[in-house]
Amino acid sequence: MKPKHVKVIVRTRPTSDFANDILQISQETNSIHIHIPKNSESGFINNQQEDWDFKFDQILHNASQECIFDECGAPILKSLIDGYNGTILAYGQTGAGKTYTMTGTTENYVHRGLIPRMISQLYKEIANKTQMAITVRISYLEIYNEQMVDLLASLNDDENCTGALKVVDENIGPSLVKNLSLQIANTEEEALNLLFEGETNRSIAEHQLNKNSSRSHCIFTIYLESRSRVESSEKVIYSKLNLVDLAGSERLSKTQTSGVSLQEAKYINKSLTFLEQVIIALSDKKREHIPYRQSKLTSVLRDALGGNCNTIMIANIWGVKEHIEETISTLRFGTRMMCVSNTPIINVQ
Ligand code: ADP
Repeated sequence: MKPKHVKVIVRTRPTSDFANDILQISQETNSIHIHIPKNSESGFINNQQEDWDFKFDQILHNASQECIFDECGAPILKSLIDGYNGTILAYGQTGAGKTYTMTGTTENYVHRGLIPRMISQLYKEIANKTQMAITVRISYLEIYNEQMVDLLASLNDDENCTGALKVVDENIGPSLVKNLSLQIANTEEEALNLLFEGETNRSIAEHQLNKNSSRSHCIFTIYLESRSRVESSEKVIYSKLNLVDLAGSERLSKTQTSGVSLQEAKYINKSLTFLEQVIIALSDKKREHIPYRQSKLTSVLRDALGGNCNTIMIANIWGVKEHIEETISTLRFGTRMMCVSNTPIINVQ
């Protein structure tokens, strides 16, 4: 299997005050040009640079949830069922639309995000794979201030809980996430209930820890174990899909003004900085040591970054003037991410 680079797709948050005068998007060429005159009186940019040019795999400007599923979710889901690992990461500043992209909102069905859409499609695909017996397991993990929170721990006494399953996931093995609950989900409804349960537990934990979702990383993982019903062989194919809603990438100065405690902001900045260091090390082909072990997030995402996985990063941007620095920072991060290569292989045991 040839190495594949991490696919980076930019998604804009629709807004009436989009800074069209300084931020030009071409969906035809998948490029973005940002122009801020040096004599700009806005004073929001402390850099001397005037122009920035970026090019990505795809730019989805004001796109619907359905379009995001078609472009990002559906191909990763197809390869998951074929036996390849997949990861979709939502990156960007707070308010740019990461949670909207991954989970969506509950008020209206058309606003449901990638996770519920991928769950629905997964069970449709499984129903069509009559020659395979496929077991679905789910875990939901939150990383907050370098602490792991098992969002499905409240279900541990449930008969469907299989406990940490070493063989499926050696990287999230017990040494890293002790006894991470893996729940069997036999139907779409059971899987959606697990998502709902995790979201509920997330908000309880948030309340206790006095934080909000923009300060933690959330990783919803679907594990497939596929056995052939027709072949007499005992071979089993394992694949997994990480759906990751990262903490807001804004800089310390902004988070301080938005009321995030200094300690929390340092942790967020640190773990995203470690993520960036891993990306930089991976894009330098001569670097031998990749510092995955520096943080929980990079340890958990090891497979997705330079490993055995099809990875897509959705760079969420909020293209209003006041956030132009954060937009540039997100687009720079996305550009680096495109230099990371993975080598997906089918994991047969
Ligand atoms: P983040 O998770 O990056 O902090 P959210 O997903 O919470 O941001 O989005 C902030 C607000 O903007 C929410 O009210 C969300 O519903 C809205 N929003 C974000 N992106 C979109 C979009 N593409 N379409 C409609 N509303 C959006």
